[in-house]
Amino acid sequence: MREQTNLSEQTIFSNAKLADGSLVDLTVTGGRFSAIAPAGKTPPADFAAVASTIIAPVFVDLGGQLVVPALVEGHIHLDTSFYGDAWRPHIPCTNGFDVRERVAFQARNLAAAAPMAERAKNQLELCVGNGSLTMRSHVMVDGSVGLKHVEAILAVRENYRDLIDIQLVAFPQSGILSSPGTAELLDEALKLGCDLVGGLDPANFDRDVKGHLDVVFGLAQKHGAGVDIHLHDGGTLGLFQVEEIATRTKALGMAGHVVVSHAYGLGDIPADALDKAGAMLAAAGVAIMTNAPGNHAFPPVAALRQAGVTVFGGSDNIRDSWWPYGDGDMLSRANMIGYRSGFYEDHELEAAFDVVTHAGAKALGLASYGIVVGASADFVAMPAQHVPEAVVAVPKERTVYRRGKVVARNGTMLAR
Ligand SMILES: [Zn+2]
Repeated sequence: MREQTNLSEQTIFSNAKLADGSLVDLTVTGGRFSAIAPAGKTPPADFAAVASTIIAPVFVDLGGQLVVPALVEGHIHLDTSFYGDAWRPHIPCTNGFDVRERVAFQARNLAAAAPMAERAKNQLELCVGNGSLTMRSHVMVDGSVGLKHVEAILAVRENYRDLIDIQLVAFPQSGILSSPGTAELLDEALKLGCDLVGGLDPANFDRDVKGHLDVVFGLAQKHGAGVDIHLHDGGTLGLFQVEEIATRTKALGMAGHVVVSHAYGLGDIPADALDKAGAMLAAAGVAIMTNAPGNHAFPPVAALRQAGVTVFGGSDNIRDSWWPYGDGDMLSRANMIGYRSGFYEDHELEAAFDVVTHAGAKALGLASYGIVVGASADFVAMPAQHVPEAVVAVPKERTVYRRGKVVARNGTMLAR
């Protein structure tokens, strides 16, 4: 389905409260912000100048609601969720957390699940309903499923491209070196349309950091693709891999195109080691994704931001074989990240919000983002006096606009 925006359509959204507290009128022309003026000051002359080419503008009074850019879902798995399907009780690992065992549970669950396109659609509509209009999804590639997941999710992306922008990561869920044929499948997945190469615990899973990263960065270079690696390894083992990834990123000039997802190790190393890692990540242009996971160490958001690292957020798994949590709401994720980070002050709550908006846009390399002239009019209006209150209260009474048109209200996507 292609973009339907009529270039001559204009809507004036009056009385929008922006994050800086200003009350403004937003003019949207052809799906993009074309003017932002103090409330009540949008000059009629502007309308007249373009009147000959514009269908009579539509006026929408936002009544002083908080208006923020659409949320950024920076890490999700569209192929493996059971959201909207039958409930799958969580199966614990038999002897402590084990990725291989979890992958086996996942294979068993997926064999009995509803069709992938239907499950992906459920999850996607949940995210759009809550205000995310850009998303990065990892999609499993391995010897057992081949490219089936990639093909299914590519079709879903095409189907929803008028509603949400989706980046896909070819994700080697069963490792690369320990799963023969996966490197070739990742290559194929990139040819088919995946935007990034994924990775998985080069040390703990594949037992070969250099070999794993050679494949990942080699494919990224070959295809001009970005990199987004799942790294669960903790402590110094995790830190070592973060440093290796940063070194390669710098050497290859890939600043701004590489992400380490989870990077749990950054959450359980001494402060001086964290300082060093933060400086290295910032200099290399490697971003860190966190979902502030359960009872687990996670990257210190404030310290990394202070060091100049782009830290952004994602839901990660939603009701899948890894855990039963997840609601597809990045505002609620900002709340969780703030809560787990011990953020109380307004500037800290604003930082938690930045993690799910502007920092996410930066990490995903979005060309134009925000409530600025020229950007796509993708935004969310909600009853909150300001961003800190929104992060704490997580109001569900939201209206989500895609290219200036309502696509969701109160957490539910409208019928297309
Ligand atoms: Zn993940």
